[in-house]
Amino acid sequence: MKIAIGGLIQESNTFSESRSELSDFRNYYFKLGGELLEPQQADNELAGFLQAAAAEGPDVELAPTLFTQAVSSGPVPRRTLDDLKRLLSERLDAIGGCDGVLFSLHGAWVAEDNDDADEEIVRLIRSRVGPDVPIVATLDSHANVTRGIVRLVDGIVGYRTFPHTDYAETGRRAARLLFRIVRGETKPHLRMKKVPMIVPAERHETSRGPMAELWAEALAGERDGRSGLASLFLVQPWLDVAEMGCSVVVMDDDPGKAEAEAERLAALMWSKRDRFRIGLRRVDEVAALLEAGASPGRAAAPIVVSDSADSPGAGSPGDSNYVLRELLRLGADRKWSCLLSMVDPEAAMAAAAAGEGSAVKLRVGHSISRAYGEPLAIEGTVARVGDGKFRFGGGTVAGLEANMGRCAVVRIGAVSLLLMERPTFTGDPAMYRSVGLEPADADLVLVKSAAQFRAEYEKLTDRIYILDTPGASTANLAGLPFKRIPRPMYPFDDFPTSKGDEPQ
Ligand SMILES: [Zn+2]
Repeated sequence: MKIAIGGLIQESNTFSESRSELSDFRNYYFKLGGELLEPQQADNELAGFLQAAAAEGPDVELAPTLFTQAVSSGPVPRRTLDDLKRLLSERLDAIGGCDGVLFSLHGAWVAEDNDDADEEIVRLIRSRVGPDVPIVATLDSHANVTRGIVRLVDGIVGYRTFPHTDYAETGRRAARLLFRIVRGETKPHLRMKKVPMIVPAERHETSRGPMAELWAEALAGERDGRSGLASLFLVQPWLDVAEMGCSVVVMDDDPGKAEAEAERLAALMWSKRDRFRIGLRRVDEVAALLEAGASPGRAAAPIVVSDSADSPGAGSPGDSNYVLRELLRLGADRKWSCLLSMVDPEAAMAAAAAGEGSAVKLRVGHSISRAYGEPLAIEGTVARVGDGKFRFGGGTVAGLEANMGRCAVVRIGAVSLLLMERPTFTGDPAMYRSVGLEPADADLVLVKSAAQFRAEYEKLTDRIYILDTPGASTANLAGLPFKRIPRPMYPFDDFPTSKGDEPQ
């Protein structure tokens, strides 16, 4: 069997002002044609496709198209989407016919003029391969699954972990499903149920709490024969689109079973809605903890705070200066060693050009996210200049090379501010270590991440807080200007409190 493989992955945040160009895809992860079949460094869905095909033996011939991903951002510009579609289309034409398609998407990808860019991609694939060739899509568990995409594909397989650690496993699961469909061993019916709720990403973790319980139920359903394969999608909450909401997708050869299990899991998800609430801290509350010092009887572990409202992983630009501004107002430069990071290409270049040891006056922050704050004037000393390349040390991104572009550390008294040209995942201590800053020795460390940072930072401290800050990816959902989502929607409208569940 000849199987076309590919992927176009990006997550959109419709409240974010950042935009991705084709070059952002090329800079992050970009494989075209035969490059897809080269030994993979990334432990992603593509690696899973290759592993599953190899396990299947010579019976499977892979036809590579395009596999690319960019850091999350605001809605994708039309020209970027059209460029990517053209590249994919050329490759689909080049491979000729195929017996099946394995394709990776995020599922929450929005174009400036289309709420459902993922559906547009699958529609392109469907138009090239025809109505009878099975397509199995992998989706991020933060996908906003739509009726449009469900109509176009023969299988949907979502991640089962957050922080996401099962990219390759999801690829293998999808590939095994497609191989069985092509051989005629299964013909699954897809049933999707929307659940009218959105919940903060900080509570999406699958290792504990409501999502761990939901997954235990979904897997029990598969074991007991209530479904062939189930996926749970807690949509990432920063999407102001008309078909917004969490969802459950169940597949089974028996449509009645798929329907019943999708209903059961959707009802369970809904019943746990109040359990996803999260407590947020203000910066001055965290400062009071710093003032109080370490817990008695133990060495001072750093306090790690997340400005998840400005998380590049959630499509925010990473350029907010809110936490820096608040800390300086509270006198942090005279009292606490703080490590902070901020995307600001102009300030990073200016500090780098001034050189190590130079005194600088800069205006930093909100060069992209103008709706969420103003630049802040600072005076400090350039402590370090770098090219921004480093390797992640652990967690879900271990070993991958990061590139934050031109970067510089500016010291403002005890506060060290890492200025960078481009956003990167900020949740690995390797970022600060690459510029000579040691998070374990600091009083306060700032990350900009909803949950992925916990993998590495929980090794350093148990004093971790999510901040209540302005930004496009805030956990304070009531602070975002939703206009287009369907109503009623939890938590914005009056629903009865879910029974037996205590908010944490
Ligand atoms: Zn995700």
